[in-house]
Formats: sequence, structure tokens, C-alpha cells
Amino acid sequence: MNVKMADLRGQYETIAPEIDKAIRSVLEHTAFIRGREVEELESELADYLDVSHVLGVANGTDALQIAMMSLGVRPGDEIITSAFTFIATAEAAALLGATPVFADINPRTFNIDPECIEASITPRTKAIVPIHLFGQPADMAPIMEIARRHGLGVIEDNAQAIGAKYRGKKTGCIGNIGCLSFFPTKNLGCYGDGGAILTNDAVLYKKARMTSNHGAERKYYNETVGMNSRLDTIQAAILKVKLRHLDTDHARRRQAAQVYDTLFDGHPFITTPHHTPDRTHVYHQYTLRISEEAPGKRDGLAAHLTEHGIPHAIYYPVPLHNLPVFASGGCRKGPLDETEKASREVLSLPMHPLLTEREQQYIADNIMQYFDRVVSTG
Ligand SMILES: *Cc1c(COP(=O)(O)O)cnc(C)c1O
Repeated sequence: MNVKMADLRGQYETIAPEIDKAIRSVLEHTAFIRGREVEELESELADYLDVSHVLGVANGTDALQIAMMSLGVRPGDEIITSAFTFIATAEAAALLGATPVFADINPRTFNIDPECIEASITPRTKAIVPIHLFGQPADMAPIMEIARRHGLGVIEDNAQAIGAKYRGKKTGCIGNIGCLSFFPTKNLGCYGDGGAILTNDAVLYKKARMTSNHGAERKYYNETVGMNSRLDTIQAAILKVKLRHLDTDHARRRQAAQVYDTLFDGHPFITTPHHTPDRTHVYHQYTLRISEEAPGKRDGLAAHLTEHGIPHAIYYPVPLHNLPVFASGGCRKGPLDETEKASREVLSLPMHPLLTEREQQYIADNIMQYFDRVVSTG
């Protein structure tokens, strides 16, 4: 059985005529930079997310950097974030001369633990950057409350969670600024690089817009040092088509997650993703925890899956504070035990809108076989 981790080809095939038409239309009008599709997408995303301003940028990493620049992050500032994530969040801070400070995660959601944030605050702290990891919303209410009490900015890294909800609000629109990535495999992915900034604050929007366009509001009248970071018109045209299918895709992801939940229910060594009634998870990844008590541990199971041609991934094998890049540059104010444990236990399974129940049954059968075998051979 040819199971795929994500099925970009299959997804394209289901909407090919619409996509081809959208691309052709840009080829014909030739406004490749800041063409009308960019503005249309920004306004459609603003409606979808219920946020006042959306700004298309070149990618999700730039979105984080522009968000930090708009909040006035400067060399020597500290940014509190999680170490159990993709590098981009901390990298953007470090590029601006700020120090990423890593706070531990909640073991059930894999997201930054609000209880660990306060202990990490110093007079140099400028902002908190929660990541809605794997499509699961971080616990925003206490995070916003801590930020308010200490006068800090909040930037949501929403690269993996477009469309997820926390207490009725879409993630990315709760803090001061939210960041999206349209990397091809993200839930709303384009056919190259792309990203966006979300905000309800008109002043921050204006700053972000200038920063992303060489620090100029008016062409050739540059006011600040900025970047060249715009969303291409062709990518915007593709995203406009894909946005129309996003909620259907999310329903399919959720359905697939339920099937996995049932297949693994009650297994002694497997923990399935956590649900809370006040949040909707959009399953960018379906990530299991394989207990360290399990025979052969997570890596034994991963090797078995490789042997049987079943795709899987480990997001993320090395927490950021243990990467060479941050060995001296990053810092922490408290223990990161849950972060380290998660990096030893997580295993992500195939998850995409076209995944079938038969494929999921096959994956689960293989996992069960593995445990039956290692348990019986001791
Ligand atoms: C993908 C991702 C990014 C970066 O997005 P790019 O568009 O690849 O630059 C940032 N943060 C997280 C959590 C991501 O998953």
C-alpha cells in the first residue's frame, strides 16, 4: 500500500481546473508583484479569520521577523518562546539580535506552558511567542493575562494552525500579531513560499506593511530599514482557490484524526492527541506519544515503520536549546524536562485530507504488530 505523509499531488488533482485557471489569469495580466489577487486574498483571509488586517509576505519566517520588527524588538531584548518547535520562531528573534528564552511545554498539548512563562520574565523581556503546534491552540487566555500584567507583546506563530479556534476565536488573531506560513505542506499551502501577518491593530499593520516593502509607504520614499518580503501574485491566486476548500479539508483531517483515535484507544504505550472542549484542533500533524516504557521505545517503532514502507516523521527530534545554533545563544530560566521528554516520545503519522480509512487501518495494524512482536520476544 502506497501511503503518503501528505499528498500534494492528489490535492492538486482534485482542484486542477480551478488552479490552472487562476495561474493563467495572472500570466495574462502580468502584475506578478502586488497584483490584485494579493489584495483579494488578504481581504478573504481577513473575513475567514475575522481579523481587521492581513498582509501577505514572502514566507512564515519573514512574517515572524516582520512581526518582531513591528513590535520594536531590538538587540538585547528577550523573547519568550518554546524550544519544542521548528527553528523559525527563535531564529527570527536571534536575527534581530534578541535572545530567545525557552520556557517548558505542557506535556498534553506540546504548547508553551503559561505556568513556565512568568518565571522566565526579566526587565529585558519584550514579547511572548506561543506556537500553536501541530494545529492545536496554545492556552491563550493566561498568556494574554501575563502579557497584560507585564506590558509585553504577544506574537502568535500560527504557521501550523490556520482555522483552529480557541474559545470561539481563530488562532493568530488573539495576540498583537499572528503569523501564517503557506509552505506547501501547511494546511493552507501554496506552490512555493508564502506567508502572512494578521493583526487587529492598525498601527502595527502599517508598520508591518512598510517593513515588508523596503520601509516605504510610497515608492522611492523609504522611511525605515525594511525588507523585500511580499507574497507573489501567482501564489496569492493559488491560495484564493485553496482557501475555498480549507474548511472541507479540515473536516476530513478531523475525521481522520477520529479514526486514528479509535484505532489506538486504550493502548498501553500510545497516547493520542489531547482534546479540550474550548479548542478546535486542525491536525496539521497527528502526533502520538510512544511511552519510554514501551519495549524498543519510539525509535524501535519508527524503524519498524520504515522497514514496512510506512511514512512517519519525528517533529522535532532535537529541542532548540540543544541545537548547535543555540548552544550558546539561546537561554532558559527554568527546567525544560517536558520539552526533552516530548522530543524522545513523539511520532507523527500520515495526515492529509485524502487519507483513507483503509490506509489508517493498515498503519494501525502495523503498529500493533510491532508491539505484539516485541512484547512476545521480550
Ligand atoms: C513552517 C513553520 C514556520 C516557517 O514558515 P516558512 O514559511 O517555512 O518560513 C514557522 N513556524 C512554524 C511553527 C512552522 O511550522
